Amino acid sequence: MSHHWGYGKDNGPAHWHESCPIANGERQSPIDIQQKSAKYDPSLKSLSINYDPSAAKSIINNGHSFNVEFDDSGDKCVLKGGPVEGTYKLLQFHIHWGSCEGQGSEHTVDGVRYDAELHLVHWNTKYGNFGEAVKHPDGLAVVGVFWKVGSACPGIQKVVDALDSIKHKGKQAPFTNFDPAGLLPASRDYWTYPGSLTTPPLLECVTWIVLKEPVTVSKEQIDKLRCLCFNDENECQCPMVDNWRPCQPLKSREVRASFQ
Ligand SMILES: [Zn+2]
Repeated sequence: MSHHWGYGKDNGPAHWHESCPIANGERQSPIDIQQKSAKYDPSLKSLSINYDPSAAKSIINNGHSFNVEFDDSGDKCVLKGGPVEGTYKLLQFHIHWGSCEGQGSEHTVDGVRYDAELHLVHWNTKYGNFGEAVKHPDGLAVVGVFWKVGSACPGIQKVVDALDSIKHKGKQAPFTNFDPAGLLPASRDYWTYPGSLTTPPLLECVTWIVLKEPVTVSKEQIDKLRCLCFNDENECQCPMVDNWRPCQPLKSREVRASFQ
């Protein structure tokens, strides 16, 4: 890539392998989840998620999406159980979305793409910090939540309202007292498989936990995301849309389901 990675014609997912050869690796994400081939695994535990709203810290436009970041120095926001061993701490969440309805999610289910996909990124506490965790195959546990346009999601409104202050790349604002549990669906049924980050450096360090039940958000809410910009104030004003990577080959992996 002659310039920084992105989602455009010249720097998008088809080019990422040029600086990240692992883009063609054995456990890349996202994937298409085929419901018939996902095997029910009765040994999978239920997900234990405990989030403390006081850990929310800031919101930042990083030029690819926006991150809501959490204080991960204590044990305020942790994930246990599910397909993983040990304790994982929440560092940030972010979203991938489309320019219109019918596209936006990264994972697909039987080839069907949702309108957006939320990623809650947790790192394995046995590695001490996020930067060390991503060097290991069991370093991260990312919970994926599908969005479809319908009725509004009250739990996301505070995030939507904060976007005006971080319209351009590099902008950051304080973001406190927020409960990310309000972004989860009622059902905790999930699919799980070993995969990767879906953005460069595409490291193969993620246990994916993709929730089956989508959350609905209103058109007004998702339209606010589409008003963000990929660039900073001094560059052209490209709307931040279609910041998703297409599905990657499953190769020798198996997708397991926590439900029948
Ligand atoms: Zn993501």
